[in-house]
Amino acid sequence: MISKYLYINTIGCQMNVYDSEQIAIRLAPLGYQQTSSLEMADLVILNTCTIRAKAEQKAFSFLGRLAILKKKKPGLIVGVGGCVAQQQGAKMLERVPHLDLVFGTRTLDRLPALVQRIENKRCRIVDVSMSEIPDLSDTAPGEGNENQVSRFVTIMRGCDNFCTYCVVPYVRGRETSRHPDSIIEEIRGLVRNGVKEITLLGQNVNSYGKKEGLCSFPELLSRVETIEGLMRIRFTTSHPKDFDEDLIKAFESSEKLCNHIHLPVQSGSNRMLKRMNRKYTRELYLDKVTQLRDTCSEIAITSDMIVGFPGETDADFNDTLDLMRKVEFDGLFAFMYSDRPNAPATQFKGKISKQQKSERLQILLELQESFTKEKNQALVGSVQPILAEGFSKRQSSGSFDNQHQAAQWTGRTSSNKIVNFYQNDNPGSCDDILPGKLVYVKIEKAYSHSLWGMPVEIESAAEGVKGEKCYAA
Ligand code: SAM
Ligand code: SF4
Repeated sequence: MISKYLYINTIGCQMNVYDSEQIAIRLAPLGYQQTSSLEMADLVILNTCTIRAKAEQKAFSFLGRLAILKKKKPGLIVGVGGCVAQQQGAKMLERVPHLDLVFGTRTLDRLPALVQRIENKRCRIVDVSMSEIPDLSDTAPGEGNENQVSRFVTIMRGCDNFCTYCVVPYVRGRETSRHPDSIIEEIRGLVRNGVKEITLLGQNVNSYGKKEGLCSFPELLSRVETIEGLMRIRFTTSHPKDFDEDLIKAFESSEKLCNHIHLPVQSGSNRMLKRMNRKYTRELYLDKVTQLRDTCSEIAITSDMIVGFPGETDADFNDTLDLMRKVEFDGLFAFMYSDRPNAPATQFKGKISKQQKSERLQILLELQESFTKEKNQALVGSVQPILAEGFSKRQSSGSFDNQHQAAQWTGRTSSNKIVNFYQNDNPGSCDDILPGKLVYVKIEKAYSHSLWGMPVEIESAAEGVKGEKCYAA
Protein backbone atom coordinates (compact mmCIF):
# COMPACT_ATOMS: atom_id res chain seq x y z
CA MET A 1 0.00 0.00 0.00
CA ILE A 2 1.35 3.48 -0.87
CA SER A 3 2.04 5.58 2.19
CA LYS A 4 0.04 8.76 2.37
CA TYR A 5 0.40 11.50 4.95
CA LEU A 6 -2.25 12.78 7.32
CA TYR A 7 -1.96 16.09 9.17
CA ILE A 8 -4.46 16.69 11.98
CA ASN A 9 -5.00 20.07 13.60
CA THR A 10 -6.96 19.77 16.83
CA ILE A 11 -8.64 22.82 18.33
CA GLY A 12 -10.34 22.82 21.73
CA CYS A 13 -10.99 20.37 24.48
CA GLN A 14 -9.58 17.00 25.56
CA MET A 15 -12.50 15.27 23.86
CA ASN A 16 -11.27 16.62 20.56
CA VAL A 17 -7.77 15.32 21.33
CA TYR A 18 -9.31 11.88 21.87
CA ASP A 19 -11.41 12.13 18.69
CA SER A 20 -8.32 13.12 16.69
CA GLU A 21 -6.55 9.99 17.93
CA GLN A 22 -9.58 7.98 16.83
CA ILE A 23 -9.49 9.66 13.41
CA ALA A 24 -5.82 8.66 12.97
CA ILE A 25 -6.56 5.07 14.06
CA ARG A 26 -9.48 4.81 11.62
CA LEU A 27 -7.60 6.27 8.65
CA ALA A 28 -4.46 4.13 9.13
CA PRO A 29 -5.96 1.14 7.21
CA LEU A 30 -6.31 3.44 4.16
CA GLY A 31 -2.53 3.93 4.26
CA TYR A 32 -2.51 7.27 6.10
CA GLN A 33 0.44 7.87 8.34
CA GLN A 34 0.41 10.88 10.64
CA THR A 35 2.84 13.73 9.97
CA SER A 36 3.63 16.94 11.81
CA SER A 37 4.52 18.64 8.51
CA LEU A 38 1.64 20.40 6.82
CA GLU A 39 3.60 20.60 3.54
CA MET A 40 3.97 16.79 3.38
CA ALA A 41 0.27 16.11 3.95
CA ASP A 42 -2.01 14.41 1.39
CA LEU A 43 -4.97 14.78 3.74
CA VAL A 44 -5.49 17.61 6.24
CA ILE A 45 -8.16 17.21 8.90
CA LEU A 46 -9.17 20.13 11.08
CA ASN A 47 -10.96 18.99 14.23
CA THR A 48 -12.91 22.01 15.46
CA CYS A 49 -14.50 23.37 18.63
CA THR A 50 -17.31 25.89 18.88
CA ILE A 51 -17.66 26.21 22.66
CA ARG A 52 -16.42 29.79 22.56
CA ALA A 53 -16.38 32.25 19.65
CA LYS A 54 -12.55 32.44 19.76
CA ALA A 55 -12.11 28.72 19.00
CA GLU A 56 -14.37 29.05 15.96
CA GLN A 57 -12.41 32.05 14.63
CA LYS A 58 -9.20 29.99 14.98
CA ALA A 59 -10.71 27.25 12.80
CA PHE A 60 -11.64 29.59 9.94
CA SER A 61 -8.28 31.33 10.07
CA PHE A 62 -6.47 27.93 9.72
CA LEU A 63 -8.74 26.96 6.81
CA GLY A 64 -8.01 30.28 5.11
CA ARG A 65 -4.27 29.56 5.24
CA LEU A 66 -4.79 26.19 3.54
CA ALA A 67 -5.94 27.85 0.30
CA ILE A 68 -2.31 28.55 -0.72
CA LEU A 69 -1.25 24.96 0.02
CA LYS A 70 -4.13 23.55 -2.01
CA LYS A 71 -3.14 25.74 -4.97
CA LYS A 72 0.39 24.33 -4.84
CA LYS A 73 -0.87 20.77 -4.34
CA PRO A 74 -4.28 20.32 -6.05
CA GLY A 75 -4.51 16.63 -4.99
CA LEU A 76 -4.60 17.64 -1.32
CA ILE A 77 -7.81 16.62 0.49
CA VAL A 78 -9.05 19.06 3.14
CA GLY A 79 -11.62 17.91 5.72
CA VAL A 80 -13.27 19.60 8.69
CA GLY A 81 -14.81 17.70 11.60
CA GLY A 82 -15.98 18.46 15.13
CA CYS A 83 -18.46 20.98 16.49
CA VAL A 84 -18.09 23.78 13.91
CA ALA A 85 -18.59 21.25 11.11
CA GLN A 86 -21.64 19.83 12.89
CA GLN A 87 -23.15 23.25 13.33
CA GLN A 88 -22.43 24.73 9.90
CA GLY A 89 -22.79 21.65 7.68
CA ALA A 90 -23.04 22.45 3.96
CA LYS A 91 -22.61 26.18 4.60
CA MET A 92 -18.91 25.47 5.18
CA LEU A 93 -18.45 24.27 1.59
CA GLU A 94 -19.85 27.59 0.35
CA ARG A 95 -17.70 29.62 2.71
CA VAL A 96 -14.46 27.65 2.07
CA PRO A 97 -14.12 26.81 -1.67
CA HIS A 98 -11.04 24.61 -1.18
CA LEU A 99 -12.79 22.38 1.36
CA ASP A 100 -13.56 18.76 0.29
CA LEU A 101 -15.19 17.20 3.34
CA VAL A 102 -17.39 18.29 6.25
CA PHE A 103 -18.09 15.55 8.81
CA GLY A 104 -20.01 15.77 12.08
CA THR A 105 -19.34 14.78 15.67
CA ARG A 106 -20.99 11.36 15.31
CA THR A 107 -19.65 10.24 11.96
CA LEU A 108 -16.21 8.92 12.91
CA ASP A 109 -17.11 5.37 11.89
CA ARG A 110 -18.03 6.52 8.39
CA LEU A 111 -14.94 8.69 7.93
CA PRO A 112 -12.76 6.11 6.08
CA ALA A 113 -15.54 5.49 3.51
CA LEU A 114 -16.04 9.25 3.02
CA VAL A 115 -12.32 9.82 2.45
CA GLN A 116 -12.16 6.89 0.02
CA ARG A 117 -15.06 8.32 -2.00
CA ILE A 118 -13.27 11.66 -2.31
CA GLU A 119 -10.01 9.93 -3.31
CA ASN A 120 -11.81 7.99 -6.06
CA LYS A 121 -14.32 10.53 -7.33
CA ARG A 122 -12.76 13.87 -6.33
CA CYS A 123 -16.17 14.97 -5.08
CA ARG A 124 -17.12 17.24 -2.16
CA ILE A 125 -19.05 15.63 0.74
CA VAL A 126 -21.04 16.79 3.76
CA ASP A 127 -22.07 14.20 6.38
CA VAL A 128 -23.34 15.67 9.64
CA SER A 129 -26.16 13.24 10.38
CA MET A 130 -26.52 12.35 14.05
CA SER A 131 -27.17 8.75 14.89
CA GLU A 132 -29.90 8.41 17.51
CA ILE A 133 -28.62 4.94 18.35
CA PRO A 134 -26.27 5.02 21.33
CA ASP A 135 -22.72 5.11 20.06
CA LEU A 136 -21.53 2.14 22.13
CA SER A 137 -19.13 0.63 19.69
CA ASP A 138 -17.77 3.82 18.24
CA THR A 139 -14.26 3.39 19.50
CA ALA A 140 -11.52 1.51 17.74
CA PRO A 141 -9.57 -0.96 19.93
CA GLY A 142 -7.07 0.76 22.19
CA GLU A 143 -3.94 0.42 20.18
CA GLY A 144 -2.49 3.74 21.29
CA ASN A 145 0.69 5.36 20.11
CA GLU A 146 3.75 3.62 21.48
CA ASN A 147 5.47 5.19 24.45
CA GLN A 148 2.68 7.51 25.49
CA VAL A 149 2.36 7.65 29.23
CA SER A 150 -0.94 9.41 29.63
CA ARG A 151 -4.02 9.08 27.43
CA PHE A 152 -7.66 10.18 27.31
CA VAL A 153 -10.55 7.73 27.07
CA THR A 154 -14.03 9.01 26.25
CA ILE A 155 -16.64 7.19 28.32
CA MET A 156 -19.69 9.15 27.18
CA ARG A 157 -20.66 11.58 24.47
CA GLY A 158 -23.07 14.52 24.28
CA CYS A 159 -24.90 16.23 27.12
CA ASP A 160 -28.46 16.52 28.46
CA ASN A 161 -27.93 19.45 30.81
CA PHE A 162 -28.68 22.41 28.54
CA CYS A 163 -26.85 25.14 30.44
CA THR A 164 -28.18 28.31 28.83
CA TYR A 165 -24.79 29.53 27.55
CA CYS A 166 -23.63 26.21 26.09
CA VAL A 167 -23.67 24.84 22.56
CA VAL A 168 -22.60 21.26 23.44
CA PRO A 169 -26.06 19.59 23.51
CA TYR A 170 -26.76 21.03 20.03
CA VAL A 171 -23.51 20.02 18.36
CA ARG A 172 -22.57 16.87 20.28
CA GLY A 173 -26.07 15.50 20.67
CA ARG A 174 -27.83 13.94 23.63
CA GLU A 175 -25.88 12.11 26.30
CA THR A 176 -24.92 8.50 25.55
CA SER A 177 -22.61 6.30 27.62
CA ARG A 178 -20.30 3.60 26.29
CA HIS A 179 -20.60 0.09 27.65
CA PRO A 180 -18.16 -0.52 30.56
CA ASP A 181 -16.78 -3.67 28.85
CA SER A 182 -15.77 -1.65 25.81
CA ILE A 183 -14.11 1.02 28.02
CA ILE A 184 -12.20 -1.58 30.02
CA GLU A 185 -11.08 -3.35 26.85
CA GLU A 186 -9.79 -0.07 25.41
CA ILE A 187 -7.86 0.82 28.59
CA ARG A 188 -6.34 -2.67 28.75
CA GLY A 189 -5.13 -2.21 25.17
CA LEU A 190 -3.59 1.15 26.04
CA VAL A 191 -1.86 -0.26 29.13
CA ARG A 192 -0.43 -3.13 27.03
CA ASN A 193 1.14 -0.40 24.88
CA GLY A 194 2.82 1.30 27.84
CA VAL A 195 0.16 3.77 29.00
CA LYS A 196 0.33 4.35 32.78
CA GLU A 197 -2.29 7.03 33.33
CA ILE A 198 -5.73 7.52 31.84
CA THR A 199 -8.21 10.37 32.05
CA LEU A 200 -11.84 9.33 31.64
CA LEU A 201 -13.77 11.94 29.67
CA GLY A 202 -17.42 12.98 29.68
CA GLN A 203 -19.34 16.28 29.92
CA ASN A 204 -20.83 15.07 33.20
CA VAL A 205 -19.22 11.83 34.33
CA ASN A 206 -21.55 11.70 37.36
CA SER A 207 -24.44 10.71 35.15
CA TYR A 208 -22.43 7.96 33.43
CA GLY A 209 -24.56 4.92 32.58
CA LYS A 210 -27.76 6.18 34.24
CA LYS A 211 -29.84 6.48 31.07
CA GLU A 212 -28.72 3.14 29.68
CA GLY A 213 -28.95 1.30 33.02
CA LEU A 214 -25.23 0.50 32.95
CA CYS A 215 -23.09 0.61 36.10
CA SER A 216 -22.60 3.88 38.02
CA PHE A 217 -19.49 6.05 37.58
CA PRO A 218 -17.95 5.03 40.95
CA GLU A 219 -18.56 1.37 39.94
CA LEU A 220 -16.81 2.00 36.63
CA LEU A 221 -13.91 3.56 38.52
CA SER A 222 -13.53 0.46 40.69
CA ARG A 223 -13.45 -1.74 37.58
CA VAL A 224 -10.78 0.46 35.98
CA GLU A 225 -8.81 0.32 39.25
CA THR A 226 -8.33 -3.44 38.84
CA ILE A 227 -6.45 -3.09 35.53
CA GLU A 228 -2.96 -4.32 36.21
CA GLY A 229 -0.16 -2.01 35.13
CA LEU A 230 -2.33 1.11 35.20
CA MET A 231 -0.87 3.50 37.76
CA ARG A 232 -3.06 6.59 37.78
CA ILE A 233 -6.69 7.42 37.02
CA ARG A 234 -8.10 10.89 36.42
CA PHE A 235 -11.48 12.05 35.14
CA THR A 236 -13.18 15.16 33.86
CA THR A 237 -15.75 16.72 34.01
CA SER A 238 -17.88 16.40 37.08
CA HIS A 239 -21.07 18.51 37.32
CA PRO A 240 -21.53 19.91 40.86
CA LYS A 241 -25.29 19.18 40.85
CA ASP A 242 -24.67 15.42 40.50
CA PHE A 243 -21.39 15.17 42.39
CA ASP A 244 -22.29 12.81 45.23
CA GLU A 245 -21.00 11.04 48.31
CA ASP A 246 -20.16 7.83 46.45
CA LEU A 247 -17.70 9.69 44.25
CA ILE A 248 -16.26 11.54 47.25
CA LYS A 249 -15.71 8.14 48.91
CA ALA A 250 -13.87 6.92 45.80
CA PHE A 251 -11.15 9.49 46.49
CA GLU A 252 -10.68 7.87 49.87
CA SER A 253 -10.87 4.22 48.86
CA SER A 254 -9.14 4.16 45.46
CA GLU A 255 -5.40 3.56 45.32
CA LYS A 256 -5.08 4.90 41.80
CA LEU A 257 -7.47 7.84 41.62
CA CYS A 258 -5.40 11.03 41.61
CA ASN A 259 -5.79 13.78 44.20
CA HIS A 260 -7.39 16.22 41.81
CA ILE A 261 -10.89 17.16 40.77
CA HIS A 262 -12.07 19.60 38.14
CA LEU A 263 -15.42 20.88 39.41
CA PRO A 264 -16.64 23.76 37.21
CA VAL A 265 -18.68 26.28 39.18
CA GLN A 266 -19.12 28.94 36.42
CA SER A 267 -20.27 31.70 38.82
CA GLY A 268 -20.43 32.49 42.52
CA SER A 269 -23.77 34.28 42.23
CA ASN A 270 -26.98 32.33 42.83
CA ARG A 271 -28.84 34.69 40.49
CA MET A 272 -26.39 33.93 37.65
CA LEU A 273 -26.34 30.18 38.40
CA LYS A 274 -30.12 30.14 38.04
CA ARG A 275 -30.00 32.05 34.74
CA MET A 276 -27.30 29.63 33.56
CA ASN A 277 -29.58 26.66 34.43
CA ARG A 278 -26.83 25.06 36.49
CA LYS A 279 -29.27 23.60 39.06
CA TYR A 280 -27.15 24.18 42.17
CA THR A 281 -26.49 27.11 44.49
CA ARG A 282 -23.21 28.55 45.72
CA GLU A 283 -24.03 27.13 49.16
CA LEU A 284 -24.38 23.61 47.75
CA TYR A 285 -21.11 24.00 45.83
CA LEU A 286 -19.25 25.21 48.92
CA ASP A 287 -20.72 22.37 50.93
CA LYS A 288 -19.43 19.80 48.41
CA VAL A 289 -15.97 21.37 48.49
CA THR A 290 -15.95 21.07 52.30
CA GLN A 291 -17.04 17.42 52.14
CA LEU A 292 -14.31 16.69 49.59
CA ARG A 293 -11.59 18.34 51.67
CA ASP A 294 -12.82 16.64 54.85
CA THR A 295 -12.47 13.27 53.10
CA CYS A 296 -9.28 13.92 51.17
CA SER A 297 -7.27 16.78 52.66
CA GLU A 298 -4.63 16.68 49.88
CA ILE A 299 -7.10 17.12 47.03
CA ALA A 300 -6.45 19.86 44.47
CA ILE A 301 -9.59 21.56 43.17
CA THR A 302 -9.74 23.38 39.84
CA SER A 303 -12.73 25.00 38.16
CA ASP A 304 -14.19 26.89 35.18
CA MET A 305 -15.62 30.37 35.52
CA ILE A 306 -17.56 32.57 33.09
CA VAL A 307 -17.40 36.35 33.50
CA GLY A 308 -19.85 38.79 31.94
CA PHE A 309 -22.81 36.44 31.58
CA PRO A 310 -25.87 38.49 30.44
CA GLY A 311 -27.24 40.46 33.38
CA GLU A 312 -24.15 40.02 35.59
CA THR A 313 -23.99 43.03 37.95
CA ASP A 314 -21.05 44.21 40.07
CA ALA A 315 -22.71 42.48 43.03
CA ASP A 316 -22.91 39.17 41.11
CA PHE A 317 -19.27 39.49 40.11
CA ASN A 318 -18.31 40.22 43.73
CA ASP A 319 -20.11 37.02 44.74
CA THR A 320 -17.85 35.16 42.29
CA LEU A 321 -14.72 36.73 43.80
CA ASP A 322 -16.05 35.92 47.26
CA LEU A 323 -16.57 32.25 46.32
CA MET A 324 -13.03 32.14 44.94
CA ARG A 325 -11.67 33.50 48.25
CA LYS A 326 -13.63 30.87 50.14
CA VAL A 327 -12.51 27.93 47.99
CA GLU A 328 -8.98 29.03 46.99
CA PHE A 329 -8.87 26.95 43.81
CA ASP A 330 -5.58 25.36 42.76
CA GLY A 331 -6.23 26.51 39.20
CA LEU A 332 -8.99 28.16 37.21
CA PHE A 333 -10.01 28.33 33.54
CA ALA A 334 -11.79 31.65 33.19
CA PHE A 335 -13.69 32.74 30.09
CA MET A 336 -15.46 35.86 28.90
CA TYR A 337 -19.03 34.94 28.02
CA SER A 338 -19.68 34.76 24.28
CA ASP A 339 -23.01 34.21 22.46
CA ARG A 340 -23.22 30.78 20.85
CA PRO A 341 -25.70 29.75 18.15
CA ASN A 342 -28.82 27.99 19.54
CA ALA A 343 -27.79 28.58 23.16
CA PRO A 344 -30.73 30.31 24.94
CA ALA A 345 -28.52 32.96 26.61
CA THR A 346 -27.86 34.42 23.18
CA GLN A 347 -31.40 35.87 23.43
CA PHE A 348 -30.99 37.09 27.02
CA LYS A 349 -31.17 40.80 27.84
CA GLY A 350 -28.45 42.67 29.74
CA LYS A 351 -25.42 41.89 27.56
CA ILE A 352 -22.16 43.06 29.12
CA SER A 353 -19.74 45.20 27.10
CA LYS A 354 -16.49 43.63 25.91
CA GLN A 355 -14.52 46.18 27.93
CA GLN A 356 -16.34 45.32 31.16
CA LYS A 357 -15.95 41.59 30.53
CA SER A 358 -12.26 42.08 29.95
CA GLU A 359 -11.84 44.19 33.12
CA ARG A 360 -13.65 41.58 35.21
CA LEU A 361 -11.57 38.80 33.70
CA GLN A 362 -8.38 40.65 34.60
CA ILE A 363 -9.46 41.13 38.23
CA LEU A 364 -10.44 37.48 38.50
CA LEU A 365 -7.20 36.20 36.95
CA GLU A 366 -5.09 38.34 39.28
CA LEU A 367 -6.93 37.00 42.30
CA GLN A 368 -6.52 33.43 41.07
CA GLU A 369 -2.82 33.92 40.40
CA SER A 370 -2.27 34.76 44.06
CA PHE A 371 -3.91 31.44 45.10
CA THR A 372 -2.06 29.39 42.48
CA LYS A 373 1.30 30.85 43.54
CA GLU A 374 0.52 30.27 47.21
CA LYS A 375 -0.48 26.62 46.58
CA ASN A 376 2.63 25.99 44.47
CA GLN A 377 4.87 27.69 47.03
CA ALA A 378 3.48 25.46 49.78
CA LEU A 379 4.93 22.42 47.98
CA VAL A 380 8.51 23.73 48.06
CA GLY A 381 10.60 21.39 50.23
CA SER A 382 8.22 18.43 49.89
CA VAL A 383 9.03 15.23 47.99
CA GLN A 384 6.37 14.43 45.38
CA PRO A 385 5.85 11.26 43.36
CA ILE A 386 5.96 12.34 39.70
CA LEU A 387 4.98 10.22 36.75
CA ALA A 388 7.69 11.01 34.18
CA GLU A 389 6.02 11.87 30.86
CA GLY A 390 8.94 12.96 28.67
CA PHE A 391 11.37 15.76 28.07
CA SER A 392 10.31 19.22 29.22
CA LYS A 393 9.43 21.94 26.69
CA ARG A 394 12.81 23.68 27.20
CA GLN A 395 14.64 20.40 26.62
CA SER A 396 12.62 19.65 23.47
CA SER A 397 13.29 23.12 22.08
CA GLY A 398 17.04 22.69 22.75
CA SER A 399 17.18 25.65 25.16
CA PHE A 400 17.87 23.70 28.32
CA ASP A 401 20.53 24.61 30.84
CA ASN A 402 23.78 23.26 29.41
CA GLN A 403 25.61 23.98 32.64
CA HIS A 404 23.95 20.92 34.18
CA GLN A 405 24.58 18.70 31.15
CA ALA A 406 21.47 16.77 32.12
CA ALA A 407 18.20 15.97 30.47
CA GLN A 408 15.29 18.03 31.75
CA TRP A 409 12.18 15.95 32.31
CA THR A 410 8.58 16.79 32.90
CA GLY A 411 5.75 15.06 34.71
CA ARG A 412 2.84 15.74 37.04
CA THR A 413 2.07 15.42 40.70
CA SER A 414 -0.99 13.41 41.67
CA SER A 415 -2.64 16.82 42.15
CA ASN A 416 -1.97 17.56 38.45
CA LYS A 417 0.75 20.18 38.89
CA ILE A 418 3.50 20.22 36.27
CA VAL A 419 6.97 19.49 37.65
CA ASN A 420 10.18 19.84 35.62
CA PHE A 421 13.32 18.11 36.88
CA TYR A 422 16.83 17.09 35.85
CA GLN A 423 17.74 13.50 35.27
CA ASN A 424 21.14 13.13 36.85
CA ASP A 425 22.55 16.23 38.44
CA ASN A 426 22.81 15.07 42.02
CA PRO A 427 25.04 12.32 43.34
CA GLY A 428 22.73 9.55 44.46
CA SER A 429 19.76 10.68 42.38
CA CYS A 430 17.79 8.43 40.05
CA ASP A 431 19.72 8.09 36.83
CA ASP A 432 17.49 5.76 34.90
CA ILE A 433 14.42 7.88 34.33
CA LEU A 434 12.15 6.60 31.60
CA PRO A 435 8.75 7.78 30.40
CA GLY A 436 6.18 6.09 32.62
CA LYS A 437 8.46 5.71 35.59
CA LEU A 438 7.46 7.05 38.99
CA VAL A 439 10.17 9.45 40.16
CA TYR A 440 10.37 11.03 43.61
CA VAL A 441 11.21 14.69 43.19
CA LYS A 442 12.12 17.18 45.90
CA ILE A 443 10.41 20.46 44.97
CA GLU A 444 12.89 23.32 45.04
CA LYS A 445 11.20 26.17 43.19
CA ALA A 446 7.63 27.27 42.52
CA TYR A 447 6.60 29.28 39.47
CA SER A 448 3.13 30.49 38.39
CA HIS A 449 2.38 27.50 36.19
CA SER A 450 4.91 24.86 37.17
CA LEU A 451 7.29 23.57 39.82
CA TRP A 452 10.93 22.64 39.57
CA GLY A 453 12.84 20.03 41.55
CA MET A 454 15.47 17.31 41.80
CA PRO A 455 14.94 13.54 41.90
CA VAL A 456 15.75 11.81 45.19
CA GLU A 457 16.08 8.13 46.05
CA ILE A 458 13.22 6.64 48.04
CA GLU A 459 13.56 3.12 49.43
CA SER A 460 10.49 1.54 47.91
CA ALA A 461 8.13 2.94 45.36
CA ALA A 462 4.78 1.24 45.60
CA GLU A 463 2.44 1.31 42.63
CA GLY A 464 -0.68 3.47 42.79
CA VAL A 465 -1.19 7.05 43.87
CA LYS A 466 -2.04 6.51 47.53
CA GLY A 467 0.84 4.05 47.73
CA GLU A 468 3.01 6.79 46.23
CA LYS A 469 4.46 8.03 49.48
CA CYS A 470 4.35 11.80 49.89
CA TYR A 471 6.70 13.75 52.14
CA ALA A 472 5.49 17.04 53.58
CA ALA A 473 7.40 20.28 53.06
N1 SAM B 1 -19.40 20.02 30.88
C1 SAM B 1 -18.61 20.93 31.58
C2 SAM B 1 -19.40 21.57 32.71
O1 SAM B 1 -20.52 21.29 32.92
O2 SAM B 1 -18.86 22.43 33.36
C3 SAM B 1 -18.02 22.02 30.72
C4 SAM B 1 -17.81 21.82 29.33
S1 SAM B 1 -17.53 23.21 28.32
C5 SAM B 1 -17.03 22.30 27.01
C6 SAM B 1 -16.06 23.95 28.95
C7 SAM B 1 -16.22 25.33 29.53
O3 SAM B 1 -16.41 26.29 28.52
C8 SAM B 1 -17.41 25.51 30.44
O4 SAM B 1 -17.18 25.00 31.72
C9 SAM B 1 -17.58 27.01 30.45
O5 SAM B 1 -16.84 27.61 31.49
C10 SAM B 1 -17.01 27.44 29.10
N2 SAM B 1 -18.08 27.90 28.20
C11 SAM B 1 -19.06 27.17 27.63
N3 SAM B 1 -19.87 27.95 26.89
C12 SAM B 1 -19.38 29.21 26.98
C13 SAM B 1 -19.77 30.46 26.43
N4 SAM B 1 -20.86 30.58 25.66
N5 SAM B 1 -19.03 31.55 26.73
C14 SAM B 1 -17.94 31.45 27.52
N6 SAM B 1 -17.52 30.29 28.07
C15 SAM B 1 -18.23 29.18 27.81
FE1 SF4 C 1 -22.39 22.45 28.41
FE2 SF4 C 1 -23.65 22.42 30.75
FE3 SF4 C 1 -23.44 20.18 29.31
FE4 SF4 C 1 -21.27 21.20 30.50
S1 SF4 C 1 -23.09 20.41 31.52
S2 SF4 C 1 -21.43 20.47 28.41
S3 SF4 C 1 -21.63 23.37 30.34
S4 SF4 C 1 -24.58 21.99 28.75
